[in-house]
Amino acid sequence: MEALREFKDRGEPVAVVIADQHAPEMAGLDLLREGRKLHPEARTVLLCGHADFKLAVDAINAVALDHFLVKPFDGERDLLPIVSDLLDGWQGARDRDAAGVRIVGERDSSGGHMIRQFLAGNNIHYQWLEPDLDEGKTLLAEVAEPDRGQLPVVVFPDGVAVAQPSNVELASQLGIATRPTLDHYDVVIVGGGPAGLAAAVYASSEGLSTVIIEREAPGGQAGQSPRIDNYLGFHAGLSGSELTRRAIIQARRFGAEIVRPREVVGIDWRGDDRILHLSDHTTVRARSVLISTGVSYRRLTAPGVSELIGAGVYYGASAGDAQDRRDQHVVIVGGANSAGQWALNFARYARQVTMLIRADSLAKGMSQYLIDQIESAGNIEVLTRAQLAAAHGSDRLESLTLKRDGAGTGDRVPAEAVFIFIGALPHTDWLQGKLICDDGGFIVSGRDLGGRPADWPLDRDPYLLESCMPGVFVAGDVRHGSNQRVASAVGEGSMAVRLIHQYLAERE
Ligand SMILES: Cc1cc2nc3c(=O)[nH]c(=O)nc-3n(C[C@H](O)[C@H](O)[C@H](O)COP(=O)(O)OP(=O)(O)OC[C@H]3O[C@@H](n4cnc5c(N)ncnc54)[C@H](O)[C@@H]3O)c2cc1C
Repeated sequence: MEALREFKDRGEPVAVVIADQHAPEMAGLDLLREGRKLHPEARTVLLCGHADFKLAVDAINAVALDHFLVKPFDGERDLLPIVSDLLDGWQGARDRDAAGVRIVGERDSSGGHMIRQFLAGNNIHYQWLEPDLDEGKTLLAEVAEPDRGQLPVVVFPDGVAVAQPSNVELASQLGIATRPTLDHYDVVIVGGGPAGLAAAVYASSEGLSTVIIEREAPGGQAGQSPRIDNYLGFHAGLSGSELTRRAIIQARRFGAEIVRPREVVGIDWRGDDRILHLSDHTTVRARSVLISTGVSYRRLTAPGVSELIGAGVYYGASAGDAQDRRDQHVVIVGGANSAGQWALNFARYARQVTMLIRADSLAKGMSQYLIDQIESAGNIEVLTRAQLAAAHGSDRLESLTLKRDGAGTGDRVPAEAVFIFIGALPHTDWLQGKLICDDGGFIVSGRDLGGRPADWPLDRDPYLLESCMPGVFVAGDVRHGSNQRVASAVGEGSMAVRLIHQYLAERE
């Protein structure tokens, strides 16, 4: 503890703390709990005996323990890989703040938020500099005159500076592929969330020419998750950005292309070709298509909310957002698991987290393991039967009006940031009615189509996951009846590839 305090006083970071539960002067778990308060970003490992197994498993929830090892173990074989994995994750999060790309601008501006989201989502490291502090002023003075005018200004590693860049400009400057290399593929995957990434890994590893077209950043909703606890094989959970980083490497290793940021805005067919129209007015042709465009949060219509999006009001959150809210008061709207995960993540850094939920208890929409952690967090307040009635501020959020039980005019409370995590809407507008969707807009497939749809040209029923257009499959949250979980999305993505093989074989 003395060493941890000394590091804290010297402003030096701590990457990993490894503690023995049976250390002579302090129980390992107590040391990890106290150490976390000094170094919230440090990763933690508990060394324990067989009899401590339950205590260690409980600690995964109670103190967000990253790993535990039961003694006796082999240091080189068992501990080193764990530490090296934890160091990778810690370094990745830390590098995000380190040099590489430098940005000068107001953090809480909508332009700044868009850039941060794109860079975080694409795992690009950056350093954020405030324009009225020394480093920011110096950098602004160094860049060419025309680039200084409008903030934020992004300075790339090669010294090129661009004021208020679009996501496509950011991608091009950073060498990210923004166009497919071929004009005809075996499979085009629309959307690079877990379903799309899994499909890309299986399709490309099985020799199909494959491209993912992603409109923002690979990882989708899962990429926004600070800690996924229920994905098989990761007993201490893993962050969505880490899962995405691994999946991208795996998909690339097998030759899949990932094109971003490009939106698919339409779909057509000519004979056996499926034609996808992209937002830059180009097209890509394919023998088969997988639609895995997922869902995103519903919008709040309370007065003031839409005007302050990106300036204190945010839909979802991304890597780095929690660290940016050190000692602030953060409000979270929503009572499902995604809201719970972020409340816990913010609580590591923020002074106070307030959750607003419409129901009369968290149990209505959240898993019990998250409820337990929220209850023991100490700085998370849950307001039940509450709603956000208005957001106030001239150019950034200053306060919120919160209403309890729908009564009265509500209380006005000061707040620096509100993060909104409410209900899901499928990304299917772009289909313009070309595929059968349910009343909520989710794509209907397989047996749910109730036999052969009108104009179905083939002498068989649609395959499982096949939409009403032969050769166009659907996987993940955008599918009618999906389970809205990472594991289900990954499972459906891989299953879709098996069916695509079947479809392609039949066309041959
Ligand atoms: C904060 C948060 C925490 C979560 N935590 C968990 C958890 O702990 N465990 C769990 O099992 N599940 C969790 N979920 C749910 C899980 O993330 C989703 O079920 C999963 O991501 C669905 O994957 P998907 O590939 O179907 O869709 P998505 O993840 O939604 O990905 C869809 C992708 O398609 C892209 N796209 C959309 N339209 C277009 C278009 N027209 N052109 C090109 N690209 C397009 C989007 O940008 C997006 O990247 C969480 C969700 C959130 C938001």
